[in-house]
Amino acid sequence: METEKKPAIEMVKKGSKSQFKNFPMVPRVVYGVGCFDQLGDILLPKRKNSEAPIIYLVDEVFEHKALPGRLPVLFNDKVIFISADEEPKTEQVDTLVSYIKKEFEELPSGIVGIGGGTLLDMAKAVSIMLNNNGSAHNYQGWDLVGKPAIYHVGIPTISGTGAEVSRTTVLLGPSKKLGINSDYTTFDQVLLDPDLTIGVPKDQWFYTGMDCYIHCIESLNGSYLNAFSQSYGEKALDMCKEVFLGDLSPEESREKLMMASWHGGMSIAYSQVGVAHAMSYGLSYVLGTKHGIGNCLVFQHLQDYYPEGVKLFHEMKRQHKIELPKNICGALTDEEMDTMISVSLGMEPLWENALGRSWREKISRETLKELYLKI
Ligand code: NAD
Ligand code: ZN
Repeated sequence: METEKKPAIEMVKKGSKSQFKNFPMVPRVVYGVGCFDQLGDILLPKRKNSEAPIIYLVDEVFEHKALPGRLPVLFNDKVIFISADEEPKTEQVDTLVSYIKKEFEELPSGIVGIGGGTLLDMAKAVSIMLNNNGSAHNYQGWDLVGKPAIYHVGIPTISGTGAEVSRTTVLLGPSKKLGINSDYTTFDQVLLDPDLTIGVPKDQWFYTGMDCYIHCIESLNGSYLNAFSQSYGEKALDMCKEVFLGDLSPEESREKLMMASWHGGMSIAYSQVGVAHAMSYGLSYVLGTKHGIGNCLVFQHLQDYYPEGVKLFHEMKRQHKIELPKNICGALTDEEMDTMISVSLGMEPLWENALGRSWREKISRETLKELYLKI
């Protein structure tokens, strides 16, 4: 299988101007409690005509809730509910794209993704694939997308991944799990309404929130760190501490975690993640473990790499009475364990960020096996 060979953002290396990455940011963002009700006004000028619909891709968890009734559905707009039980697949993207092309005479005016990282990534991928031929798996990699995506909007309903700001959409393809990393992936508009995160189950709140916390720890302790990343990472880390260890009201907590996610995403945009993400990637590839919980499962055992960060993680876990599942890797065959280790070690930029240029001398397959067996 192919693994990630190139960092999501090429690193800033002193001495060569051409190596500075010129990465895209979300050009428009609306923030505030209740701003979801502004969506109709935001979309109106983007509507090409009454035949070109807005397609809303909405987490299935909202199907029988109040949220769909608040969507500004006009003309032949379509609301499609999608399960977030599994992480998004290229095949799923292809099916959705061919359905939309068959169902409507014109290409949509826009795609709106509403949900967590799973739905945000689906929306990004579908909007790219509506304007680019072939299967989504052909575009997994770096800068393979030739034509701009159609207008796409991201509306997170759970905070932590930073998918709302990133230039990637992580997809499981037939032969690899890899993002479509491109300048066209980033959302054209993001809507941040903290009240949309009301109702997130406690465990999931913790796992996805810890994704943000771990982004900060890995970015701030990495060799790729620079002032740009640090400025966002430190702010995000402070907000995570307030949310998970402070004494905030539920309203403040929702607001701060939503902004922590944004800043955490910005921090890794110009640096990289590290050991927990590299190992979590292996777990996810072999066992289908989801990103947030996978990071927690690994991170709890990384005291040798991130002593302060891991100590604080255990404090947060205790304070919120979170019990992580145990013995996840105990029943793996030797072959599965080997694959898991190879997938993880294939994440070269993550290891380089975490352990420096000579990372290969500092981490062995045996160490990884020992760590995985603790999970
Ligand atoms: P998710 O989208 O997988 O959702 C987790 C669970 O929370 C689901 O059961 C979902 O239905 C539920 N949920 C979401 N909002 C809810 C709400 N308001 N009320 C009740 N339930 C709610 O979770 P996630 O952790 O945000 O995303 C994980 C995905 O994000 C993975 O596929 C991962 O690969 C991807 N990811 C992408 C990036 C990126 O930059 N593109 C970064 C990190 C992770
Ligand atoms: Zn992450």
